[in-house]
Amino acid sequence: MAERGKIITIDGPSGSGKSTISRRLAARLHYTYLDTGAMYRAVGLLVNRSGIDLDDEADIQKILEGMDLQLLPGDGDTRVILDREDVSSAIRTAEMGMVASRVSALPVVRKKLTELQRTLGLRGAVVAEGRDTGTVVFPEAELKFYLDASPEERARRRSAQLREQGHDVDEKEILAQIKKRDKDDSARSLAPLKAAENAVIIDSSVMTIEEVVNFMLDQLDKK
Ligand code: C5P
Repeated sequence: MAERGKIITIDGPSGSGKSTISRRLAARLHYTYLDTGAMYRAVGLLVNRSGIDLDDEADIQKILEGMDLQLLPGDGDTRVILDREDVSSAIRTAEMGMVASRVSALPVVRKKLTELQRTLGLRGAVVAEGRDTGTVVFPEAELKFYLDASPEERARRRSAQLREQGHDVDEKEILAQIKKRDKDDSARSLAPLKAAENAVIIDSSVMTIEEVVNFMLDQLDKK
């Protein structure tokens, strides 16, 4: 089926089910899943560890130039290798989500990661997931989706996911973080979180993952 389309984008806020749905859709189509959020998280970790001030774009640019970031698609979450270290677990914490949101507003970071994502997209047959994959990274994508769900439902899902991974979770705190990230991601001037004009908007609050994936496959069939 891979020849049917080249790039499908799925954007939306945190906890909207994007990752699971993107992964499943990619698997059904035999496409590659591109987790752009994992890339922003990896940069967040790198900047955090280096102790560089978030306002210091010149120094951040320097460490980005030397950064070796690799994504290895697997059965579950994408494995993320940063400078030869597997940081897949380290980047997927609530704290790193907040750090990623902060570094993702920096022009040097967006430029670097957008270029990298476009290079990965050149291979085609990709399901790209993030905040700006349909609006900025792949404006020519064959099919674009914007996935949403209520903040409360998203906080519930994210808390369950973190608990499953063995983290201690305060759901109220997660809801507050989700609302703050939504606000920051939507309000930033550069590549804000928003639906592309030609995106199909899906509210996943009352749909199962399987229903959303099937709906997406139907949309692709109609193309
Ligand atoms: O999707 P995930 O929660 O892993 O993304 C972490 C953060 O990275 C988001 O809150 C957002 O600020 C940033 N991000 C972005 N553009 C993308 C993907 C993620 O700005 N395409």
